[in-house]
Amino acid sequence: MVAVKSLLQPQRRLFGKLGFGFERRAGRVMRVALALAVLLLAAGILSCAGSGTDRMHTVRKGENLYRIGLRYGVPAAQIARANRISDVTAISVGTRLRIPAKSARATRGNSTRGPAQTRRPSALADARRKARRDALREGELRFAWPLSAPRLTSRFGQRKGRPHEGIDLGARRGTTIRAAESGKVIYSGWLGDYGKVVIVKHAGLYRSVYAHARVLHVGKGEFVEKGRRIAEVGTTGRSTGAHLHFEIRKRDEPRNPLLYLP
Ligand SMILES: [Zn+2]
Repeated sequence: MVAVKSLLQPQRRLFGKLGFGFERRAGRVMRVALALAVLLLAAGILSCAGSGTDRMHTVRKGENLYRIGLRYGVPAAQIARANRISDVTAISVGTRLRIPAKSARATRGNSTRGPAQTRRPSALADARRKARRDALREGELRFAWPLSAPRLTSRFGQRKGRPHEGIDLGARRGTTIRAAESGKVIYSGWLGDYGKVVIVKHAGLYRSVYAHARVLHVGKGEFVEKGRRIAEVGTTGRSTGAHLHFEIRKRDEPRNPLLYLP
């Protein structure tokens, strides 16, 4: 338990800092709950890091816990417990809530395909156009593949009833990982299930994440140009075989990288 807790600490601190939304200060009960959640993950529910169990939601005008619960398919009471809210009717606009993952039973029967796969081709083309236009508008961003010969081994979206928050690209150990766009390195080091990871903050609200690396070639605070070698493919953290887990996030929200990539 101690090991799990200490594993969690840096991850929570970082995600807190990045606005990924772990609670600023969790009590002992919360910590034990988190440790249990991690143990469950370790029991083999996930096969890849970045497939986080919890999502974040910022309360908007006119919303209440019940509505939010309906939207995510999670009971309001469960959200209240996860966020230590005693009065479920009193949540204020702008509050950031942690939405606990649905139980395996609740998600069984759902499609295991990512949203992009279930759409019609024209809808997919629309989504791509929209995503790429947004990245251009936000910061003149044109994301490139982080590997020179990318081989997609796992898509973004639901995977065995759990969200996979990025894509997996199979590659040999030691393959060069390149920055998908220019930006500032905001994290370079070990991060729980991600293993050795680089996180780059781009113009606008975008970030890209490169996980399970064997070696990291950049340090926090460094500015990297698009295409710059930042790390090497490995299998550190929670990973099955050498691959790159690649994410594109806008604010704290994971987006389907395939919509942005050429
Ligand atoms: Zn992955």
